[in-house]
Amino acid sequence: MAIPQKGPCRYRCILQLPEITIESGIFKRKKDAEKSAAEMAIEKLGIQISTDSRTPQEASDLLVERLTYLFSNEFLSSDPPHPLSGHLRAALEREGDLCGLVPLSVMAVYDSRLNNLCKCINPKVESNPFLVIPLIMGAASRLPELVATSEGQLSIWRKNIYPPEVIESLVNQQSGAPQSNLVEAIHIPCSQEKAIELVILDISSTGYYLDVIAKKLDLTDAAKVLISRAIGKASSETRLYFAAHQSYLIEPSSDHTNAKEALHSEVSLNARASYLSSQDIYGDAILASIGFTWRSKDLFYEDVSVQSYYRMLINKIPSGIYKLSREAVLTAEFPSAFTTRTNWRGSLPRDVLFTFCRQHRLSEPVFSSISIPLKAVSESPGSSKKLKVTDSSEEDTERASGGAISTDARESVESAVSYQCEIKIFSRSQDLIIECSPKDSFKKQNDSIQNTSFKIISWLNMYFKDLNLPSEKLNSTANDLDVQFSHENFLKEFVLCRSIHTVHHTETEGVKFLEPNTMSMLNTIPEQGVQSLNIEGPDSGVFPSNGSLLCISYSVFLVTEGEHMKENLESNPEFEFEIGVGAVIPHLEAAVTLMSIGQSACFKMELPPKEFILAAAVNSARTLSLLSSKSCCLEYSIRLLQVTEPLEDRMEQALFSPPLSKQRVEYAVQHIKESGATTLVDFGCGSGSLLDSLLNYPTALEKIVGVDISQKSLGRAAKILHSKLSNNIGINSAILYDGSITDFDSRLCGFDIGTCLEVIEHMEEEQACLFGDVVLSYFCPKVLIVSTPNYEYNVILQKSSPPSQEEDPDEKTQSQSCKFRNHDHKFEWTREQFNHWATELAAKHNYSVEFSGVGGSADLEPGFASQIAVFRRICPPQGEDLSKNADTEHHYQVIWEWSSSTSSS
Ligand code: SAH
Ligand code: MG
Repeated sequence: MAIPQKGPCRYRCILQLPEITIESGIFKRKKDAEKSAAEMAIEKLGIQISTDSRTPQEASDLLVERLTYLFSNEFLSSDPPHPLSGHLRAALEREGDLCGLVPLSVMAVYDSRLNNLCKCINPKVESNPFLVIPLIMGAASRLPELVATSEGQLSIWRKNIYPPEVIESLVNQQSGAPQSNLVEAIHIPCSQEKAIELVILDISSTGYYLDVIAKKLDLTDAAKVLISRAIGKASSETRLYFAAHQSYLIEPSSDHTNAKEALHSEVSLNARASYLSSQDIYGDAILASIGFTWRSKDLFYEDVSVQSYYRMLINKIPSGIYKLSREAVLTAEFPSAFTTRTNWRGSLPRDVLFTFCRQHRLSEPVFSSISIPLKAVSESPGSSKKLKVTDSSEEDTERASGGAISTDARESVESAVSYQCEIKIFSRSQDLIIECSPKDSFKKQNDSIQNTSFKIISWLNMYFKDLNLPSEKLNSTANDLDVQFSHENFLKEFVLCRSIHTVHHTETEGVKFLEPNTMSMLNTIPEQGVQSLNIEGPDSGVFPSNGSLLCISYSVFLVTEGEHMKENLESNPEFEFEIGVGAVIPHLEAAVTLMSIGQSACFKMELPPKEFILAAAVNSARTLSLLSSKSCCLEYSIRLLQVTEPLEDRMEQALFSPPLSKQRVEYAVQHIKESGATTLVDFGCGSGSLLDSLLNYPTALEKIVGVDISQKSLGRAAKILHSKLSNNIGINSAILYDGSITDFDSRLCGFDIGTCLEVIEHMEEEQACLFGDVVLSYFCPKVLIVSTPNYEYNVILQKSSPPSQEEDPDEKTQSQSCKFRNHDHKFEWTREQFNHWATELAAKHNYSVEFSGVGGSADLEPGFASQIAVFRRICPPQGEDLSKNADTEHHYQVIWEWSSSTSSS
């Protein structure tokens, strides 16, 4: 934040972190303000920078010091409020004997500084956080004047009461008495036989919320409750609460399993709660989102519904993480291929991997990137570097000194190396669990990272889909995906998964995750595959093909047999996905391939695992009652809104650098500059990419015109040009016309230069011929530049389509069967066909023609990716009469017009 004032600017840095906002002092330099804010944040958050350098003895002393501070007068009213100070204040509101008693478990959880010091004294705190409690009791015993603890109570309290001023100031700070506050929480019984249940915490009355939670757990008071780590995001206050038991506080003997067994004999592990928190939790537990935070002195709380519980549960598995990121639990699937970033929707593979590791409390994945000089890998067939851009040789010298060169320079740097990426995943205790080091190399480092992440996620996904997968299958798939894993370490980390996401096969429908207690319920539902796909609406003829990006609207309902009852589980008015890569459930993918734009369809499907249904359902109670009382199924109702054939754009961006479209534009710009033209018409200007780029370069142009039949594109072009033209000194007139370039319009006669980039293939062949005739015989520009795809080049494009398609041979054949680069293309010509068209046209109208192109090269088969013809007028037009006679022939409609004189007023 820059602070306006007389004289030099001053800075204050405001740092917004998930839990607190830090405001620095005022500094002359921005950097100093930032540094100060960061230091304050580190202090406030209790982040300890140099853990290793501290001896246990030093840490013990600091622990005593910290405890002294935590029970000081200042701490109670600290600002911003420390979460623990909230508990100290709340403890003072407890009634009777409990007044002022602070549960030790709170001390163990809410002060990270204290926690770090304890880890330093006893590293086992890392795996058993409750070992903090005896350490605090030890430290407290060194402060007999200040605090007292009671082992039986698991509480700590300050011996001297706080001075009345301090207490009074607290009362003043309170922002009104709490109103009727009922918070939803989830009771997770220890026994998996019992279903989870919604419980309501009534925190309306003054007092201590932990006492309320204790009551729900049938415990006398807060001191008997232990609190887990926060679950989910870093800023989350969602935690598990469960009964304290003396045995947690006993340091496990050297033989870890023995200690666990001893524990087990008294209370048993709560598998669901432990799985959610990645921490051992025994007995019944309550999952609630409540607590004091850095943000405010008031208690923060939020409902944890049945739906949120199931969302947390599916967020532990890769496909669930992805589904949630798409907000499409019943519809989306983690795709089976990472084609391109442009087609990917939802969390990227790398981000899914990060979330997965965090959810399972593993260490952050370790990425190592290897850059390889291109020569070393140059001979792998179909690899993208073969498609490296080479501009036509005649252009090379020009470009070496001109303005557009920077792209060439960048190009040569980029092409010098390619990237491979290796990822390792370690447990908290640094045991290697998974390692993936594919040999695939990529032009862009990020692509290599996504590719390797994708492979790990795909493998994990397969594991989580079928936890009973025979180990040979697990190994062979790992092999296919370049994944190596340590069986022992892997199973150790994921041992609980099996009991939580229990797998159940059915004949028609892949896999089910079911909790054991729900088995009987789902068994009553008859097996159903997809039923009666009904497609409605007129056939528009535009069908999706693999690689298309689709946009659909959909709703999913839970329906009972006979459709007496229907509950909407999930809806989306605009949902985009790439088709052909399993980005949606198979039934949906199968259905949309049969539909054309504008059509609707409806189909029924047997139920997916219960955890997905409940993660989607807003009304859990109703959904559960439907599920338990009747036999039901899912009904999908979809409508195909849009199909974008991205293959061409995708390839132009992925395989050429700079993208092919940019190279075409630059080629044209170069010619326009050279020609010294003052007037230009761009035929089929689309969204104005050429006109827009032209404004970036100094040219002799004074008047520019664009023509297109798409009003939508023209609208976009107008917007771009409008914002740019005011800064351009050379051009004094710009017009956009709506019209077909096969029609004559006298206003276009006598222009210096015409361009027509990637347009003719969007017309029927006769229309393309007609366009040629109209331009060269009526408009008569001095130069006309026409570009169109080279059909012969498609083999290369399709062979080297984005990397992950190579994994799936079926995919590849399908993508090869797509004839043209874009579904809107009416034709794509070979070099010979294009030469024929252009040579004939030139001869007929007394023009010369030269051939060139961009992407690939002229003398290397199969020539350029985009072929270009440059027509030049041989002699000046016969006379003025033509344009004069046709003065009134206006077939185009002005969509937008700009002139320097009107705009400057
Ligand atoms: N020249 C632009 C757009 C190419 S896409 C570029 O290089 O980015 C093809 C364009 O041709 C589309 O905008 C389409 O609307 C336009 N088009 C197709 N047939 C046309 C016709 N008969 N008259 C004018 N424009 C046409
Ligand atoms: Mg095209």
